[in-house]
Amino acid sequence: MLKYDSYDIVMQEIPNEISLCFTMTGCQLACKDCHSEHLWNPENGKILNPGMFEKVLLKYSETITCVIFMGGEWSCSELLILINIVKKFRLKVALYTGLNEKQIQRKYPELLNILDFIKTGKWISSLGGLDKLKTNQILKDLRSGEILNKYFHH
Ligand code: SF4
Repeated sequence: MLKYDSYDIVMQEIPNEISLCFTMTGCQLACKDCHSEHLWNPENGKILNPGMFEKVLLKYSETITCVIFMGGEWSCSELLILINIVKKFRLKVALYTGLNEKQIQRKYPELLNILDFIKTGKWISSLGGLDKLKTNQILKDLRSGEILNKYFHH
């Protein structure tokens, strides 16, 4: 069952989008440098069922242009239901995952067909995030194939 830790409106995660960002619990990746180990335990968090999710979107749909799921791919069929609700609202949708794109392609290929954006790559503190040139993480616009990391370099 998909659960979330929190949600918030964010401006910087996806360039030119105002996003409602859900941080999911139950992450199975256990990155060595994980900054949020409380997200590993699937018992933590509140259930994100479709009814409740739709109510939250209804509340924010005039304000936001995109919904981001920070994790959740491990319950792919449930995540797809939520993504389809986002699409019903004609909003864009993004997934942040610690897996790389090849792993997503192999394990959850249907996600790549429906998402607008995907950020891939586990967190490695010595390489840093999207604002660092040496980062292993990639933010991609799946509709155009454009790599969006350049928008984070100042
Ligand atoms: S993907 Fe994120 S939440 Fe999951 S272990 Fe890695 S840093 Fe932590």
